[in-house]
Amino acid sequence: MAEAHDSRGLEELRERLARARKVFVLTGAGISAESGIPTFRGPEGYWKKHAPEELASPAGFARDPKLVWEWYNHRRRLIAACEPNAAHRAVAAIESRVARFLLCTQNVDSLHQRAGSRNVVEIHGSIWRARPVDGGPAFEDRRLFEEAELPPRTAGGQLLRPDVVWFGEALDPARFEQVDAFLAAGQTDLAFIVGTTAVFPYIQHWVWMCRRQGAVVVEINPTPCLPSELATHCFSGKAGEILPKLLR
Ligand code: NAD
Repeated sequence: MAEAHDSRGLEELRERLARARKVFVLTGAGISAESGIPTFRGPEGYWKKHAPEELASPAGFARDPKLVWEWYNHRRRLIAACEPNAAHRAVAAIESRVARFLLCTQNVDSLHQRAGSRNVVEIHGSIWRARPVDGGPAFEDRRLFEEAELPPRTAGGQLLRPDVVWFGEALDPARFEQVDAFLAAGQTDLAFIVGTTAVFPYIQHWVWMCRRQGAVVVEINPTPCLPSELATHCFSGKAGEILPKLLR
Protein backbone atom coordinates (compact mmCIF):
# COMPACT_ATOMS: atom_id res chain seq x y z
CA MET A 1 0.00 0.00 0.00
CA ALA A 2 1.38 3.42 -0.91
CA GLU A 3 2.24 5.65 2.03
CA ALA A 4 0.06 8.63 2.80
CA HIS A 5 1.11 12.25 2.44
CA ASP A 6 2.55 13.21 5.82
CA SER A 7 5.53 15.09 7.18
CA ARG A 8 7.39 11.84 7.98
CA GLY A 9 6.93 10.70 4.39
CA LEU A 10 8.26 14.03 3.15
CA GLU A 11 11.28 13.92 5.43
CA GLU A 12 12.11 10.38 4.34
CA LEU A 13 11.90 11.41 0.68
CA ARG A 14 14.12 14.45 1.25
CA GLU A 15 16.76 12.10 2.64
CA ARG A 16 16.36 9.67 -0.24
CA LEU A 17 16.65 12.51 -2.71
CA ALA A 18 19.82 13.75 -1.01
CA ARG A 19 21.37 10.26 -1.44
CA ALA A 20 19.93 9.46 -4.89
CA ARG A 21 22.32 9.01 -7.81
CA LYS A 22 19.77 8.29 -10.52
CA VAL A 23 16.36 9.96 -10.68
CA PHE A 24 13.57 9.67 -13.25
CA VAL A 25 10.70 12.15 -13.48
CA LEU A 26 7.60 11.59 -15.57
CA THR A 27 5.09 14.39 -15.96
CA GLY A 28 1.69 14.92 -17.54
CA ALA A 29 -0.75 17.74 -18.10
CA GLY A 30 -1.41 18.14 -14.35
CA ILE A 31 2.01 19.70 -13.71
CA SER A 32 1.07 22.60 -15.99
CA ALA A 33 -2.44 23.03 -14.57
CA GLU A 34 -1.21 25.53 -11.96
CA SER A 35 0.32 27.57 -14.79
CA GLY A 36 -3.20 27.95 -16.21
CA ILE A 37 -3.04 25.30 -18.96
CA PRO A 38 -6.12 23.06 -18.84
CA THR A 39 -5.64 19.30 -18.67
CA PHE A 40 -7.40 17.14 -21.25
CA ARG A 41 -9.51 15.09 -18.95
CA GLY A 42 -10.66 17.81 -16.54
CA PRO A 43 -13.98 19.67 -16.76
CA GLU A 44 -12.40 22.39 -18.93
CA GLY A 45 -10.97 19.81 -21.28
CA TYR A 46 -13.33 20.53 -24.15
CA TRP A 47 -13.00 23.15 -26.79
CA LYS A 48 -15.72 24.21 -29.19
CA LYS A 49 -17.69 21.10 -28.20
CA HIS A 50 -15.04 18.73 -29.61
CA ALA A 51 -13.23 16.14 -27.50
CA PRO A 52 -9.39 16.27 -27.83
CA GLU A 53 -9.50 12.71 -29.15
CA GLU A 54 -11.53 14.02 -32.13
CA LEU A 55 -9.20 16.96 -32.80
CA ALA A 56 -5.84 15.43 -31.92
CA SER A 57 -6.03 12.54 -34.33
CA PRO A 58 -5.03 11.89 -37.96
CA ALA A 59 -8.71 11.32 -38.84
CA GLY A 60 -9.69 14.64 -37.25
CA PHE A 61 -6.95 16.44 -39.19
CA ALA A 62 -7.93 14.77 -42.48
CA ARG A 63 -11.56 15.77 -41.85
CA ASP A 64 -10.91 19.41 -40.99
CA PRO A 65 -7.29 20.66 -40.83
CA LYS A 66 -8.43 24.24 -40.27
CA LEU A 67 -10.45 23.31 -37.19
CA VAL A 68 -7.53 21.31 -35.77
CA TRP A 69 -5.14 24.22 -36.37
CA GLU A 70 -7.62 26.64 -34.78
CA TRP A 71 -7.42 24.47 -31.66
CA TYR A 72 -3.61 24.31 -31.71
CA ASN A 73 -3.36 28.03 -32.45
CA HIS A 74 -5.68 28.72 -29.51
CA ARG A 75 -3.47 26.52 -27.29
CA ARG A 76 -0.29 28.19 -28.57
CA ARG A 77 -1.71 31.58 -27.57
CA LEU A 78 -2.75 30.25 -24.18
CA ILE A 79 0.62 28.59 -23.50
CA ALA A 80 2.59 31.64 -24.72
CA ALA A 81 0.84 33.69 -22.03
CA CYS A 82 1.66 31.18 -19.23
CA GLU A 83 4.71 30.89 -17.03
CA PRO A 84 6.37 27.81 -15.51
CA ASN A 85 5.16 27.20 -11.94
CA ALA A 86 6.80 26.08 -8.70
CA ALA A 87 6.52 22.41 -9.72
CA HIS A 88 8.41 22.95 -13.00
CA ARG A 89 11.09 24.84 -11.09
CA ALA A 90 11.34 22.09 -8.46
CA VAL A 91 11.88 19.47 -11.19
CA ALA A 92 14.69 21.61 -12.65
CA ALA A 93 16.22 21.92 -9.16
CA ILE A 94 16.13 18.14 -8.67
CA GLU A 95 18.02 17.73 -11.97
CA SER A 96 20.75 20.06 -10.71
CA ARG A 97 21.22 17.94 -7.56
CA VAL A 98 21.62 14.41 -8.93
CA ALA A 99 24.29 12.75 -11.04
CA ARG A 100 21.98 10.98 -13.49
CA PHE A 101 18.62 12.44 -14.37
CA LEU A 102 15.97 12.16 -17.06
CA LEU A 103 12.68 13.97 -17.35
CA CYS A 104 10.10 12.42 -19.67
CA THR A 105 7.16 14.73 -20.19
CA GLN A 106 3.92 14.01 -21.99
CA ASN A 107 3.40 17.74 -22.21
CA VAL A 108 3.88 19.66 -25.42
CA ASP A 109 4.10 23.12 -23.83
CA SER A 110 7.92 23.32 -23.22
CA LEU A 111 7.35 24.87 -19.76
CA HIS A 112 9.90 22.45 -18.27
CA GLN A 113 12.65 23.80 -20.53
CA ARG A 114 11.59 27.36 -19.72
CA ALA A 115 11.97 26.47 -16.01
CA GLY A 116 15.55 25.30 -16.62
CA SER A 117 15.21 21.54 -17.21
CA ARG A 118 17.89 20.30 -19.61
CA ASN A 119 17.65 16.54 -19.96
CA VAL A 120 14.09 16.37 -21.26
CA VAL A 121 12.35 13.90 -23.59
CA GLU A 122 9.12 15.35 -24.99
CA ILE A 123 7.58 11.97 -25.62
CA HIS A 124 4.48 13.45 -27.28
CA GLY A 125 6.33 16.14 -29.25
CA SER A 126 6.05 19.90 -29.00
CA ILE A 127 3.35 22.38 -29.86
CA TRP A 128 6.19 24.72 -30.88
CA ARG A 129 7.25 22.54 -33.83
CA ALA A 130 5.50 21.76 -37.14
CA ARG A 131 6.13 19.44 -40.07
CA PRO A 132 4.69 18.81 -43.54
CA VAL A 133 1.81 16.36 -43.30
CA ASP A 134 3.10 14.44 -46.35
CA GLY A 135 6.55 13.90 -44.86
CA GLY A 136 9.68 15.92 -44.27
CA PRO A 137 11.56 17.06 -41.20
CA ALA A 138 9.99 18.91 -38.29
CA PHE A 139 11.13 22.43 -37.56
CA GLU A 140 10.66 24.99 -34.80
CA ASP A 141 7.58 27.10 -35.46
CA ARG A 142 6.49 29.57 -32.79
CA ARG A 143 4.05 31.56 -34.90
CA LEU A 144 0.72 32.71 -33.48
CA PHE A 145 -1.50 32.71 -36.54
CA GLU A 146 -4.34 34.92 -37.69
CA GLU A 147 -7.49 32.99 -38.57
CA ALA A 148 -7.02 33.61 -42.32
CA GLU A 149 -3.54 31.98 -42.23
CA LEU A 150 -4.97 28.61 -41.13
CA PRO A 151 -4.15 25.90 -41.94
CA PRO A 152 -0.51 26.99 -42.46
CA ARG A 153 1.54 25.74 -45.41
CA THR A 154 5.22 25.70 -46.33
CA ALA A 155 6.53 28.20 -48.87
CA GLY A 156 6.18 25.36 -51.42
CA GLY A 157 2.48 24.91 -50.56
CA GLN A 158 2.73 21.75 -48.43
CA LEU A 159 0.15 21.48 -45.65
CA LEU A 160 1.74 21.66 -42.19
CA ARG A 161 0.69 19.79 -39.07
CA PRO A 162 1.75 20.23 -35.45
CA ASP A 163 4.72 18.00 -34.54
CA VAL A 164 2.85 16.25 -31.75
CA VAL A 165 1.87 12.62 -31.30
CA TRP A 166 -1.85 12.30 -31.89
CA PHE A 167 -4.20 9.64 -30.55
CA GLY A 168 -3.68 6.45 -32.54
CA GLU A 169 -0.17 7.41 -33.71
CA ALA A 170 3.11 5.69 -32.87
CA LEU A 171 5.72 7.35 -30.71
CA ASP A 172 8.97 8.56 -32.24
CA PRO A 173 11.22 5.47 -31.80
CA ALA A 174 14.28 7.61 -30.96
CA ARG A 175 12.49 9.34 -28.09
CA PHE A 176 11.08 6.04 -26.82
CA GLU A 177 14.54 4.46 -26.96
CA GLN A 178 16.09 7.37 -25.05
CA VAL A 179 13.76 6.78 -22.10
CA ASP A 180 14.09 3.00 -22.25
CA ALA A 181 17.90 3.17 -22.44
CA PHE A 182 18.13 5.57 -19.50
CA LEU A 183 15.98 3.31 -17.34
CA ALA A 184 17.76 0.13 -18.41
CA ALA A 185 21.23 1.46 -17.53
CA GLY A 186 21.72 0.94 -13.80
CA GLN A 187 19.33 1.13 -10.94
CA THR A 188 16.94 4.06 -10.66
CA ASP A 189 16.83 5.20 -7.02
CA LEU A 190 13.86 7.50 -7.17
CA ALA A 191 11.02 8.14 -9.63
CA PHE A 192 8.43 10.91 -9.51
CA ILE A 193 5.19 10.44 -11.44
CA VAL A 194 3.50 13.82 -11.51
CA GLY A 195 0.14 15.03 -12.82
CA THR A 196 -0.68 12.20 -15.19
CA THR A 197 -3.54 9.75 -15.48
CA ALA A 198 -0.83 7.32 -16.73
CA VAL A 199 -3.27 5.75 -19.18
CA PHE A 200 -0.76 4.96 -21.91
CA PRO A 201 0.78 1.47 -21.72
CA TYR A 202 4.34 2.71 -22.30
CA ILE A 203 3.97 5.09 -19.33
CA GLN A 204 2.95 2.20 -17.11
CA HIS A 205 5.79 0.11 -18.58
CA TRP A 206 8.36 2.73 -17.52
CA VAL A 207 6.91 2.96 -14.03
CA TRP A 208 7.11 -0.86 -13.83
CA MET A 209 10.75 -0.76 -14.95
CA CYS A 210 11.50 1.58 -12.03
CA ARG A 211 9.63 -0.58 -9.54
CA ARG A 212 11.29 -3.79 -10.73
CA GLN A 213 14.66 -2.18 -10.05
CA GLY A 214 13.58 -1.39 -6.50
CA ALA A 215 13.14 2.34 -7.05
CA VAL A 216 11.07 4.41 -4.68
CA VAL A 217 8.15 5.54 -6.86
CA VAL A 218 6.39 8.72 -5.76
CA GLU A 219 3.07 9.72 -7.29
CA ILE A 220 1.94 13.34 -6.94
CA ASN A 221 -1.63 14.04 -8.10
CA PRO A 222 -4.78 15.46 -6.43
CA THR A 223 -6.53 12.34 -7.77
CA PRO A 224 -3.89 9.58 -7.65
CA CYS A 225 -4.11 7.10 -10.51
CA LEU A 226 -1.33 4.54 -10.07
CA PRO A 227 -2.14 1.17 -8.52
CA SER A 228 -0.55 0.70 -5.11
CA GLU A 229 1.75 -2.06 -6.49
CA LEU A 230 3.40 0.65 -8.58
CA ALA A 231 3.58 3.68 -6.30
CA THR A 232 5.48 3.27 -3.03
CA HIS A 233 4.55 6.81 -1.95
CA CYS A 234 1.44 8.72 -2.88
CA PHE A 235 0.90 12.42 -2.29
CA SER A 236 -2.61 13.49 -3.14
CA GLY A 237 -2.28 17.18 -3.76
CA LYS A 238 -1.08 19.79 -6.20
CA ALA A 239 2.38 19.40 -7.72
CA GLY A 240 3.20 23.08 -7.17
CA GLU A 241 2.59 22.69 -3.46
CA ILE A 242 4.18 19.28 -2.83
CA LEU A 243 7.30 19.17 -5.04
CA PRO A 244 8.92 22.33 -3.57
CA LYS A 245 8.51 20.83 -0.07
CA LEU A 246 10.78 17.94 -1.09
CA LEU A 247 13.61 20.38 -1.70
CA ARG A 248 13.66 22.05 1.70
P1 NAD B 1 -4.61 14.16 -18.30
O1 NAD B 1 -5.27 15.42 -18.75
O2 NAD B 1 -5.18 12.86 -18.73
O3 NAD B 1 -4.56 14.10 -16.70
C1 NAD B 1 -4.09 15.16 -15.93
C2 NAD B 1 -3.80 14.62 -14.53
O4 NAD B 1 -3.27 15.69 -13.77
C3 NAD B 1 -5.04 14.12 -13.78
O5 NAD B 1 -4.75 12.86 -13.19
C4 NAD B 1 -5.26 15.19 -12.71
O6 NAD B 1 -5.79 14.65 -11.50
C5 NAD B 1 -3.85 15.70 -12.49
N1 NAD B 1 -3.74 17.05 -11.97
C6 NAD B 1 -4.59 18.09 -12.13
N2 NAD B 1 -4.12 19.18 -11.49
C7 NAD B 1 -2.93 18.83 -10.93
C8 NAD B 1 -1.97 19.51 -10.14
N3 NAD B 1 -2.11 20.80 -9.81
N4 NAD B 1 -0.87 18.83 -9.73
C9 NAD B 1 -0.69 17.53 -10.04
N5 NAD B 1 -1.59 16.82 -10.79
C10 NAD B 1 -2.69 17.47 -11.23
O7 NAD B 1 -3.11 14.31 -18.70
P2 NAD B 1 -2.07 13.25 -19.20
O8 NAD B 1 -2.08 12.03 -18.33
O9 NAD B 1 -0.82 14.01 -19.30
O10 NAD B 1 -2.59 12.78 -20.67
C11 NAD B 1 -3.18 13.66 -21.61
C12 NAD B 1 -2.38 13.88 -22.89
O11 NAD B 1 -2.59 15.22 -23.40
C13 NAD B 1 -0.91 13.87 -22.64
O12 NAD B 1 -0.24 13.62 -23.81
C14 NAD B 1 -0.71 15.30 -22.19
O13 NAD B 1 0.54 15.73 -22.02
C15 NAD B 1 -1.47 16.05 -23.26
N6 NAD B 1 -1.79 17.40 -22.76
C16 NAD B 1 -0.74 18.26 -22.64
C17 NAD B 1 -0.95 19.51 -22.09
C18 NAD B 1 0.25 20.41 -21.92
O14 NAD B 1 1.21 20.31 -22.69
N7 NAD B 1 0.26 21.26 -20.90
C19 NAD B 1 -2.23 19.91 -21.69
C20 NAD B 1 -3.29 19.01 -21.88
C21 NAD B 1 -3.05 17.73 -22.41
